[in-house]
Amino acid sequence: MTLYLATSNPGKLADFAGMERMPALLPGFAALPSIEETGATFEANARLKAEHYSRFAPPDAAVLADDSGLEVDALAGAPGVYSARFAGEPSDDAANNALLLARLRGLPPGSRTARFVCLLALARAGSTLATFRGEAAGIILDAPRGSYGFGYDPLFYSPEAGCAFAELTPEQKAGFSHRGRAARALMRWLAAPSPVHQAAL
Ligand code: IMP
Repeated sequence: MTLYLATSNPGKLADFAGMERMPALLPGFAALPSIEETGATFEANARLKAEHYSRFAPPDAAVLADDSGLEVDALAGAPGVYSARFAGEPSDDAANNALLLARLRGLPPGSRTARFVCLLALARAGSTLATFRGEAAGIILDAPRGSYGFGYDPLFYSPEAGCAFAELTPEQKAGFSHRGRAARALMRWLAAPSPVHQAAL
């Protein structure tokens, strides 16, 4: 089965490029009509995107879509599915990070716990074949660190990695990230496809 990736986010593309055996971008993707992310969950939005773009792929090919975001405990799980547009539209990483810092101002590290979540959906001819979830736990810093990555990476301290995600190359980030974990669950499923609907690492 040929696999293609459907994403217009250069940060996600760079993350996927740092992983082994990841699919190429769906041919002609930039010219395809986009789809509104109206789902209430990461899974719903990942499925919406994968099913939509798979209708434009060759019939024997499957399409992978990523919906992801940051859940901050002190903000009751926000920004969640609204992570890309936390500070409004159009999506602006610097404005999102500034708003996140403002909302958490004065909170000690123990109250700044958060997680990144990534849902990958794989679809063929308009139907979802399987979804894969990955999570990464972290602490929101009170000032940005590092120059790699995208989105909230400069404010996301990973205790496992011992640094902010923006201090890791894409290859290093994949070892700890929500996206890397979901991608490894996908790779395991591809090696032994089963009728599971959701697999998590
Ligand atoms: P989506 O395109 O609706 O999935 O929105 C994803 C948004 O979540 C991005 O624009 C970022 O704001 C945030 N996000 C998701 N994954 C990451 C990551 O790996 N690093 C930093 N921010 C991320």
